[in-house]
Amino acid sequence: MSVPKHRKSKSAVRTKRAHLALKTLKTVKCPECGAASLPHRACPSCGMYKGRKIMATKTEQIEKREVKRKKKEEKDKLKQRANK
Ligand SMILES: [Zn+2]
Repeated sequence: MSVPKHRKSKSAVRTKRAHLALKTLKTVKCPECGAASLPHRACPSCGMYKGRKIMATKTEQIEKREVKRKKKEEKDKLKQRANK
């Protein structure tokens, strides 16, 4: 690996970093729920894209996980009862 021979001047470092600033994200208003979302991507708050339901929202994912967990708990309880 090559190693720099000289330290970069403050000016050179700052000139380089002048182009590293973050740009603000462009958002579009979701036609279904009105929330701001990224263009050409499914809306994170309602999960719709081009008028179709594409993905589950965060709350729907959590609900699904809860249902799965409860089912597993019930199954485990039944197993424990069977073992006694
Ligand atoms: Zn939406």
